[in-house]
Amino acid sequence: MYALDDTIVAISTPVGQGGIGIVRLSGPESLAILQGLFLADGRGPSRLASHRLYHGHIVDPATGRRADEVLAVYMRAPRTYTRQDVVEINCHGGVAALREVLGLCLAAGARPAHPGEFTLRAFLNGRIDLAQAEAVLDVINAETSASLRVAVEQLGGRLSGHVRDVRRRLVEALAHLEASIDFPEDEIPDRDVGADLAAAADALCELAREAERGILYRQGARVAIVGQPNVGKSSLLNALLRQDRAIVTPIPGTTRDTVEETISLRGVPVVLTDTAGLGDSDDAIEQLGMERSRASLARADLVLLVVDGSRPPDEADRSVAADVAAAGRPAILVANKADRPAVDRHAAVLPSAPLARVSALTGAGIDALEERMLETILAGPATPGAEPLASNPRHRDLFRRALGHVEAAAAALAEGLEADLVAIDVSEAVTALGQVTGETAGEELLETIFSAYCIGK
Ligand code: GDP
Repeated sequence: MYALDDTIVAISTPVGQGGIGIVRLSGPESLAILQGLFLADGRGPSRLASHRLYHGHIVDPATGRRADEVLAVYMRAPRTYTRQDVVEINCHGGVAALREVLGLCLAAGARPAHPGEFTLRAFLNGRIDLAQAEAVLDVINAETSASLRVAVEQLGGRLSGHVRDVRRRLVEALAHLEASIDFPEDEIPDRDVGADLAAAADALCELAREAERGILYRQGARVAIVGQPNVGKSSLLNALLRQDRAIVTPIPGTTRDTVEETISLRGVPVVLTDTAGLGDSDDAIEQLGMERSRASLARADLVLLVVDGSRPPDEADRSVAADVAAAGRPAILVANKADRPAVDRHAAVLPSAPLARVSALTGAGIDALEERMLETILAGPATPGAEPLASNPRHRDLFRRALGHVEAAAAALAEGLEADLVAIDVSEAVTALGQVTGETAGEELLETIFSAYCIGK
């Protein structure tokens, strides 16, 4: 898979019918293969200038039969996606036409590309680093405009720049530590390794936090709406959805199952789960619903504990609140029915949570609630336009690992341990960061990452 000297070919557009479909080649034989198959209008095959689009036909050299009318471009290395010679043939986007052209390229000596192999070549040839290569996949898979912006920034190298800065500082600290093992103190320049480690720890903390935030943009957050029957959970779900989806009913306990809906809170996908209510019941179906409620409570990124703000809190409210407190998830206490005269004793129901007054009926307070929800989910104020730097769980784990080693190194340094003992952890942190950008990524890691790509990318 890591050979670079052969020429690969793939259909780079999705299979199916479309206006056009693209067959892409990369490798040293790309131009020769194109020249053997392509008849440009009014030109000899040898006069194809680089980075120019030519109209003509792909012709089977064995039979002289035209396979398709195409636009073809030859792009000479290194100003190409893979930094190798690249050819793209824009065919008609039908399965038969594309297969025919692909088959002719294979017969002419290209071999089928593995998933992600074009991007892998871009990485191996040093045009992009590993984090950028992963961003290509994120761009393709982005489902919201916010996650697309995160991916495009990462593709542009924003994350890589930050990671390199931290890594460089650690490499310099490491060089100093290693020098002090081999040479007497007075022969090497002074350096405050403690300051290096402290700065690296700060930066890594921030990167891990950014990644955590970015993962939310990608995977979405789970919000559980809980509360005793009839406080207005279904109505609140509808108000958040701004359309009537869940069933609203005045009969207590009739939302027996969990209802899930997805909304976008300023680009962050949020899955809302309206639960059957917690508390106690003898009814078998309600008990089942309650079990589900507890389960969605346990895995929620945020819990909305709904109470009826127009009457005093009662035992049932406190019982649900106890379940919420026990789950230990971030929560907002929502005092609903604010269109009615309010009773002011609800904050005590869940003292640890901020209180939001809303009317699911009139929509009053819903915007402020959404604001609060976003702040809690993102663990900080939602700055418009400030998309997270990172969004990949793999990167988050590596930042955390690097942080652990930097903290261990700082502790060893503070304890006055030998330089070589400090150096071990610094070196581990450097390796972890190198796995983000790819300097220290082994074949196994590359295989795992690139196998997730589609063929032709
Ligand atoms: P759930 O059992 O907690 O899901 O509660 P529902 O959403 O089914 O609402 C129960 C009852 O309270 C219904 O009759 C709703 O119309 C009513 N209700 C819900 N929200 C409000 C509100 O903000 N103000 C008023 N006045 N009534 C509400």
